Amino acid sequence: MKTPDMIEKEAREVLASMPETLSPKDRAAIPHMDMPTQDPKERIRNMSEVALGYTEEEALVEASRCLQCKNKPCVAGCPVGIDIPGFISRIAEKDYSGALSVIQCSSLLPSICGRVCPQENQCQKFCTVGKMKKDVDQAVGIGRLERFVADHEAESASVPEVAPETGKRVAIVGSGPASIACAADVRRAGHSVTVFEALHKMGGVLSYGIPEFRLPKRLVEKELSKLEAMGIRFERNVLVGRTRTIRELMEEDGYDAVFVGTGAGLPKFMGIPGEDLVSVFSANEYLTRSNLMKAYDTEHSLTPYFHSHRVAVFGGGNVAMDAARTALRLGAETVDIIYRRSREEMPARKEEIEHAVEEGCNLRLLSQPVEILGDENGIVKGVVIRRCELGEPDASGRRSPVEIPGSDYTVDYDTVIVSIGNASNPLIKKTTPEIETNRRGNFIVNEETCETSLKGVYAGGDIVLGAATVILAMGQGRKAAAAINEYLKAGK
Ligand code: FAD
Ligand code: SF4
Ligand code: SF4
Repeated sequence: MKTPDMIEKEAREVLASMPETLSPKDRAAIPHMDMPTQDPKERIRNMSEVALGYTEEEALVEASRCLQCKNKPCVAGCPVGIDIPGFISRIAEKDYSGALSVIQCSSLLPSICGRVCPQENQCQKFCTVGKMKKDVDQAVGIGRLERFVADHEAESASVPEVAPETGKRVAIVGSGPASIACAADVRRAGHSVTVFEALHKMGGVLSYGIPEFRLPKRLVEKELSKLEAMGIRFERNVLVGRTRTIRELMEEDGYDAVFVGTGAGLPKFMGIPGEDLVSVFSANEYLTRSNLMKAYDTEHSLTPYFHSHRVAVFGGGNVAMDAARTALRLGAETVDIIYRRSREEMPARKEEIEHAVEEGCNLRLLSQPVEILGDENGIVKGVVIRRCELGEPDASGRRSPVEIPGSDYTVDYDTVIVSIGNASNPLIKKTTPEIETNRRGNFIVNEETCETSLKGVYAGGDIVLGAATVILAMGQGRKAAAAINEYLKAGK
């Protein structure tokens, strides 16, 4: 593993030997710049960001790898269609504010998306350089460059202009990326916007789910403060469906339109014996205690800190990696990630799995938890695990796990974190039955406008897509905002 100093030295050497004019062949020969990271031994003792971001030299080298393809295949992979070669060419010219302007035409949260987008499945998957090298890891580091620009220009980012007041009022339910994007675009059109959030902090998963060491909360707070500066009102601790229903917001409180961005925050459980024992957490609860209530800050924490020694995390997705890595930072000596297929089938990003392993998490693969055992006080004392082998591919295209009869064994743990996915919260559906949902409880919307079956009510993000991504949620928020603005312009 290269240290940050080694990467910086490499960048300086490449820049010093780079010809002034670069042919496509020269560009293709430039080495890919690794992302500098904190040393794994150090970082498990702190909550600071793992990936340190490119220096200017590193960004210039990485930007010079872009071939400026005429047909821009990478852009088709970005859900919000950022002009990727456009912003990269400005980096290469050292016009960083110009690069930010290009990004901001399509994305409101570059410092966040540059960090958390699963780029290898989106923009970078289509990059010509990666294809030439037959390795997506060798693609131009689009997300890293996006992060570099956002961080470099952090101080100069301005508050978007707002059109004169229209007198129309829009309620936004939830404050995750779908809602943030929708609120900003609706407010820009001059409508009054109020965001209602059930929790005491704004930001949705960006605040309560993704850990500080992947996404510093100061970045989320900064984006939210821009919305406040635009005149958007935030109402915290309001559970729509209980405090006020959607109908009450529209018929009694005078909102002309509503956007629902309530996400997919209902944890799923496995339904195995022992899931009701003390020290069994859903990943959502575990991460919320750490991120939102700062369980790691024992002096100022808003929640008691459960001191775990041996932790079992059930699941193989990004949320499981976040929970496992958080458990290590909270002082656990052993963290096992128990997953029923092989590493190849794990749904988590490759980088997240690598980081978890580098930090000391163990992958207990082809293993299915079948029972959680408790002691006489009802506290977890172990997990019965059944070995699996891979069978035929299932509907997802991944080989399915087949349990091996008679292969059960028991491992001692004092904490279990269940991270096998989330479903949508049924509260709004229950209290507003006019909104049509599918069998999973996701809102059904018009694909073009994001309007639900209830006139004037729009929805986007995970409540529509199921557990998806930040950038997809943002894209839907913007699409809904455009439709809401049209609806209000037409006199609703
Ligand atoms: P959310 O972000 O879920 O926000 C919904 C908000 O609505 C919440 O704040 C909730 O409290 C509020 N709410 C719910 N019900 C009500 C109600 N009745 N009244 C008022 N408020 C309500 N995606 C990536 O792209 N990259 C990642 O690295 C990544 N990591 C993730 C890690 C974790 C731990 C989790 C859980 C998800 C991760 N995701 C990641 C997925 C991504 O965060 C989500 O797809 C995205 O946040 C969805 O945005 P949203 O606006 O639809 O909803
Ligand atoms: Fe790639 Fe995400 Fe940036 Fe789009 S927003 S260019 S998908 S990193
Ligand atoms: Fe640059 Fe890759 Fe996009 Fe081509 S596909 S313009 S090389 S980022």
